[in-house]
Amino acid sequence: MPPPLSRDKPILGIDLGTTNTCVAHVRNRIPRVVPTDKGSLILPSVVALSSRGDFLVGGAAKDQLLTNPRNTIYGAKRLIGRKFNSRVVQDLRSYYSYDIVEGPQGEAAVSLGDRVYGLPEISGMVLAHVKKIAEAFLGRPMPQAIISVPAYYNDNQRHAVKEAGRLAGFDVKRIVNEPTAAALAYGFNRGLDQRVLVYDLGGGTCDISVLQLQQNVFEVLATGGDTFLGGVDFDNRIIDWALDQFWREHKVDLAQSPIALQRVKKAAEAAKIDLSLIPNTVIDLPFVEERRGKPLDLRMPISRQQLEEITRDLVDRSFTLCDEVLEQKGISRGSIDEIILVGGQSRMPLVQQRIREHFGKPPRKGVHPDECVALGAALLGDSLDSIDSVTLVDVLSMPIGIAAPNDRMRRVLEKNQPIPATRSFRLPPPREPGKPIEIDIYQGDSDQIVDDEFLGSLRLPAAATGRRIDLKLDEECLLRVTFDDPERGMVEVPFATRDTPEALRRAIAEKTPPPGAAGAAPREQRRGIFGWLTRS
Ligand code: AMP
Repeated sequence: MPPPLSRDKPILGIDLGTTNTCVAHVRNRIPRVVPTDKGSLILPSVVALSSRGDFLVGGAAKDQLLTNPRNTIYGAKRLIGRKFNSRVVQDLRSYYSYDIVEGPQGEAAVSLGDRVYGLPEISGMVLAHVKKIAEAFLGRPMPQAIISVPAYYNDNQRHAVKEAGRLAGFDVKRIVNEPTAAALAYGFNRGLDQRVLVYDLGGGTCDISVLQLQQNVFEVLATGGDTFLGGVDFDNRIIDWALDQFWREHKVDLAQSPIALQRVKKAAEAAKIDLSLIPNTVIDLPFVEERRGKPLDLRMPISRQQLEEITRDLVDRSFTLCDEVLEQKGISRGSIDEIILVGGQSRMPLVQQRIREHFGKPPRKGVHPDECVALGAALLGDSLDSIDSVTLVDVLSMPIGIAAPNDRMRRVLEKNQPIPATRSFRLPPPREPGKPIEIDIYQGDSDQIVDDEFLGSLRLPAAATGRRIDLKLDEECLLRVTFDDPERGMVEVPFATRDTPEALRRAIAEKTPPPGAAGAAPREQRRGIFGWLTRS
């Protein structure tokens, strides 16, 4: 076991990925990935409950996906910090093999054995596992962490990841955006003056960011992403293609058999990864189903060219995203000095070919797509409070605003606003004279709050009408709200609730006697709880 060096800080950089988690540490000023107990450098972000009632994490959990799919939780990163009723969660419910249920605050949660677990608990188990592995490898306690998140994560998701870190026993020093961490891994202490585009195509999402690097100042100029575009979408195309072929051949729908479908999913991803290296492969699943007592095999050759044909539009979408991000700030393609690839799906040869066509230069070699985010997070951790520390100038990826009449969002903090930042507005009058003022805060790109993410409600006294309220974003892009109290000056306003309006509505309905019964609150009065919201 390597002896610890006294200068080295007890802080880990962790890339908590959709598919895999990678952890790094800076020793002797050099960032290195910490190998898992199985010798690999990445740990599957999977948690499972075995048939014997034990929790499994990582490879052991992934191994039981086929035999115990309902008790094997993967892809938690797509669910964490999201509301159960959100579009993403509802879409994933039909795709994931485990039960996604509604948690007590209207958030997405999962059912495992006979208990419901919050996603921070699930991700917390992955983080606790990497903490244990890193401590065993480094031979010392590792109480601190920097955890990376997609630039496109909203305030709820960031809080949920911080909570996961806390549940794992970490003091989470910073949440850092993944593209920023990747750029750090590339440019830290190299004295560069370059404009860099980070193209991150991971398991579940696609994130594009443009950064200006000047010495150790990393300034994000623009960022954008698609939370519905990632490796799983490529897998799904292969799965659909294979199921279709199988149906034509045998008139058997493999989607009806959970175990067969799980085997096809695994084989489809393996074939996709093979095709990044070799031009042809075969999806070969003996005895995938049976018909009238006779075993049916699935054996389908697939070429790289076929894969490219059925997924070309997905790759095209990622480049439309690149253009949109550049256009936001009027940045020309030609002014990009380097393109850094992040995320496993960026290894697809078609992606690399399209990078060359689109930007007129190949992607930068030497930046490892699976490791650079963790390495950058570790470098940031090591440089915190140091003389040669880095300066990160990040931006807000999605507007934040308040609910306004007609279910509209009034933007207060705009997209691409550099952070930290503070923006102020004046408090509107209460809906009913003399009653507290309720303000609902939302984050998202849409002008309609129904399409945005609800962050929480603020409740202020009626006397606060017309006073100033500040929305403050810290360097982690976490939101705080302060209010100009007539007597005490600027004071912090805690969120009265982070429950969704729907969860509140239900809670109130449960507490309220049925209509007509003595003491039932008039409907109009109950609606007042939701502040400006007029949805019925
Ligand atoms: P990440 O979230 O960065 O761990 O990315 C994981 C995604 O990358 C998964 O969808 C993998 O199937 C995909 N992936 C990993 N390696 C390759 C490869 N060599 N070629 C294509 N896709 C890959």
